[in-house]
Amino acid sequence: MEAPVYTGLRENDRLSTAVIHYMAAAVTDTGRKRTSNEDSYGLSVEHGIYLVCDGMGGAAAGEIASSLAVEESMRVLSARLADESTSVRMAAEEAVAIANEAIYSRSLRNPRLSGMGTTFVALLARERRAWVVNIGDSRCYRLRNRSLEQLTHDHSWVDEQVRLGLMTEAEAGRSQFRNVITRALGTQSSVTPDIFEIEAEPGDLFMLCSDGLTRELNDGLIESMLSLDLPLERLCARVVDAAKKAGGHDNITCLLVRAEG
Ligand code: CA
Repeated sequence: MEAPVYTGLRENDRLSTAVIHYMAAAVTDTGRKRTSNEDSYGLSVEHGIYLVCDGMGGAAAGEIASSLAVEESMRVLSARLADESTSVRMAAEEAVAIANEAIYSRSLRNPRLSGMGTTFVALLARERRAWVVNIGDSRCYRLRNRSLEQLTHDHSWVDEQVRLGLMTEAEAGRSQFRNVITRALGTQSSVTPDIFEIEAEPGDLFMLCSDGLTRELNDGLIESMLSLDLPLERLCARVVDAAKKAGGHDNITCLLVRAEG
């Protein structure tokens, strides 16, 4: 078989050969009103795995659900993604299925954990390509050129109403049903995550967070804070601190991932 012949190099081809490195930091905080922290996060710069989970089902159950989700999916993903020929999408589907089963079967065995579940938002980065995986209402944002974009859709009743044009964003924020999520990990025998591929550019800053952050801080404020030229650890601490000062009604988790050329 003949080798392919390249007659010209487009700009994208040249750019895509540049190596990207990632750096990450995270802060989680109980907030000012709750007595326990049901959020969990996991990160492995080595394997390009970043994830945030926000548990539900009562304090103990919520903590168990989110930490089980992080443990199980970190285990599966770091094993699968160590092999660079593995499909990231398939690894993500497998990790979600195994974590879902672990939480669901544990909730069936123990009545006190009945109905527990968790959100799940992950960024899986491999060079310039990255995959966003989402279940529930934790979010992934991207700051590019000081402009903030929410990459995930919430799986929540109010978000569906907004997308159907039946409710405004402001009404959604005030709704008594704003806590109702329409998809969760571990509450049923199976779940389908949103998985989509994006391209990362040097300078991109990704934020994974729980709703305890986005309920307190609007996008404009998040955008201006993330645009500050600070080390990631300090940025995380500053964002979480701002969410606490704004009320801190819920647990707050901020995980930042920077792509560097
Ligand atoms: Ca929460």
